[in-house]
Amino acid sequence: MRHIGGMNTDFDIIIVGGGLNGPALALALGQAGMNVAVVDARAADMRGAAGFDGRAYAIAAASQRLLSAIGVWPALADHAQPMLQIKTTDGVVGRGPAPFFMTFDHAELGAGPMGYMVEDRHVYAGFLAAMQGQEKITLISGQSVVAQDVKAGNASVTLADGRVLTARLIVGADGRTSGVASRAGISRWGWEYGQTALVTAIHHEKPHGGTAHQYFLPSGPLAILPLHGGHHSSIVWSEKTALAAQIQALDDAGYLAALRPRFGDFLGEISLAGARFTYPLNLTVAKEFTAPRIALIGDAAHGVHPIAGQGLNLGLRDVAALAEVLTDAARLGLDIGAQDTLARYQEWRRFDTTLMALGMDGVNKLFSNDNPVLRGLRDIGMGAVAAMPALRRAFMGKAAGVAGEGMPRLLRGERV
Ligand SMILES: Cc1cc2nc3c(=O)[nH]c(=O)nc-3n(C[C@H](O)[C@H](O)[C@H](O)COP(=O)(O)OP(=O)(O)OC[C@H]3O[C@@H](n4cnc5c(N)ncnc54)[C@H](O)[C@@H]3O)c2cc1C
Repeated sequence: MRHIGGMNTDFDIIIVGGGLNGPALALALGQAGMNVAVVDARAADMRGAAGFDGRAYAIAAASQRLLSAIGVWPALADHAQPMLQIKTTDGVVGRGPAPFFMTFDHAELGAGPMGYMVEDRHVYAGFLAAMQGQEKITLISGQSVVAQDVKAGNASVTLADGRVLTARLIVGADGRTSGVASRAGISRWGWEYGQTALVTAIHHEKPHGGTAHQYFLPSGPLAILPLHGGHHSSIVWSEKTALAAQIQALDDAGYLAALRPRFGDFLGEISLAGARFTYPLNLTVAKEFTAPRIALIGDAAHGVHPIAGQGLNLGLRDVAALAEVLTDAARLGLDIGAQDTLARYQEWRRFDTTLMALGMDGVNKLFSNDNPVLRGLRDIGMGAVAAMPALRRAFMGKAAGVAGEGMPRLLRGERV
């Protein structure tokens, strides 16, 4: 990796945003021989050096194959908790689970764990280390992109310190409020959920056994996600925004007292094991994923509800598709920023993304209320899925990324 100094400012691709999806794309393209710049507003060592902060990702099996293909997985493997079972329950606070619940077990798929839980600090540190070993990647961190300009043959971005970088393509990996998208005139659709996610980590007395739990409570879903070591879990607890603010304002003892009746006692005594965060939840999808010499990936293209832990997985599917489209075009000697190259990417990704975004939205709306008719329907639906192994396997295969026609090479574990 080259740090910028008195450097070359012309690249094949400039990626704006060094969160998770930007580095993943940079690694895939750098390995394929392209010159890539990654510009991130945050300082690189900030997140890599952070302590255990409770944020963690459910990495689906297909995403894990991609992380292996781009060389990041070895750094994560020792910190990853295999997810062996997912239990979903339609619950009522203080009343415990409803009569029907669904269990998804990896043994039914016969293809290894359904996914892995890995803490954010390990994922980011893994990306940073892999980028540091890659000659073709120039990381510019602690610098914002403040302007962009697109011409017939190339595009450029201006950094806050006045430097101008040029490339044939600019990729917006700059998150839910993507400046790359808005500067390119791409508008967004979506809505606020009126919910906020309270995110933390807990230590628990009994081992989790690799089981993830999702409780559908009327005010919002509560996910308990197993972390490496057996006695820690990540909590993603969605509540109506006003109530979430009140809970967040409590001291640790008050916070735990609010969490316990939602939680049950199946893990024994619980205590907080990390800092507490809040994330306001909204749905925000870009109306176009491309513009002349621009492509969007990750949350810049689609910010979804965290209900099924699919946000990063969706982003990595963008990474796989875009990396493949761009490397195929480059090998054929085509312009990687040309409209028909980018159209292939948009076509590949837009349908899947819209389905997933609306799917998460629908599940959240169906479950986040206490209407007795909907509650009955939910229990019938859960009972039906629980009774039908084939349907259950289909759900699991989709979530793990086992199934799916036209899967990009990286998601099959192959390099582009
Ligand atoms: C509570 C919660 C739980 C979640 N749990 C899961 C889970 O279990 N599994 C999962 O798959 N996903 C999960 N997600 C979703 C996941 O966190 C996101 O999808 C993912 O982090 C998006 O990554 P990204 O790289 O696209 O964007 P971001 O992580 O938002 O990164 C964007 C980057 O762009 C940079 N940037 C912005 N503007 C500029 C600029 N002008 N110039 C330079 N840089 C700029 C920012 O500094 C930032 O580093 C969860 C999300 C939430 C809120």
